[in-house]
Amino acid sequence: MSRRNSLVTGANRGLGLEYCRQLLARGDHVIATARHPAQAHELNRLAADHPGRLHVLPLDVTDPKAEAEIARELPLVLGDEPLHLLINNAGLLHSGERFGHVAAANLEDSFRTNAMGPFLLTQALAPRLAEGATVANMSSQLGSIAGTTRFGTPTYCITKAALNMATRLLAAALADRGIRVVSLHPGWVATDMGGEQAPLAPAQSVEGLLKVLDGVGMSQSGSFLDWQGKVLPW
Ligand code: NDP
Repeated sequence: MSRRNSLVTGANRGLGLEYCRQLLARGDHVIATARHPAQAHELNRLAADHPGRLHVLPLDVTDPKAEAEIARELPLVLGDEPLHLLINNAGLLHSGERFGHVAAANLEDSFRTNAMGPFLLTQALAPRLAEGATVANMSSQLGSIAGTTRFGTPTYCITKAALNMATRLLAAALADRGIRVVSLHPGWVATDMGGEQAPLAPAQSVEGLLKVLDGVGMSQSGSFLDWQGKVLPW
């Protein structure tokens, strides 16, 4: 069997780094992207431990030019092999936002990072995706419109809800190639974003998420699932 190629964005820390660890442990060939590869020390150590199997490339998902660039660079790493798994993991949460004081700049960079980035990267890489590939958009329960009853982290919630719409549209656009696209909620996880008090460890969350991704069939493409495979309301 030929090797499986996976790409993870925002791979220098948190869930992105853990995805890389677990995908490597499964034997995947991993392309890990980070805004500042030279400062991605843990990722670079992981690359040194897996020579030829982990490639670190620069990518700021808010820069549409960078997304086109990475599409051009991929053949240098993959040759003519396709991509089997794309994990749009990079995300941004502004904390401490209060109604009446929400800054346009917060909304704008959250939109660029959480919604526009995953949509444009998937579009740019679509020609490289294998038949039957999977695209995972790291969303959040906080992006669920149905689940929202109180005011909190508005720029995050609004832009994750936009990401969920991107998931549905991408699922429709890629269905005829058997490509599945899902929004995932990782649980509340102890990362820089989730904070120390979060109940889930990144390893546990990612183990669950990869199991969920393994089991996603075409009938579940375009859905919103948590790390245990539960369907979440939009
Ligand atoms: P972290 O804040 O720990 O890590 C975020 C990652 O995204 C970092 O690698 C960061 O890079 C990267 N990133 C941010 N902006 C950009 C950008 N413009 N271009 C490229 N990379 C960028 O978050 P988590 O690991 O906790 O979260 C991963 C995903 O899971 C996110 O999408 C998040 O919204 C989602 N999620 C997390 C939950 C949790 O409890 N932790 C709950 C629900 C969803 P840099 O180091 O350069 O800033």
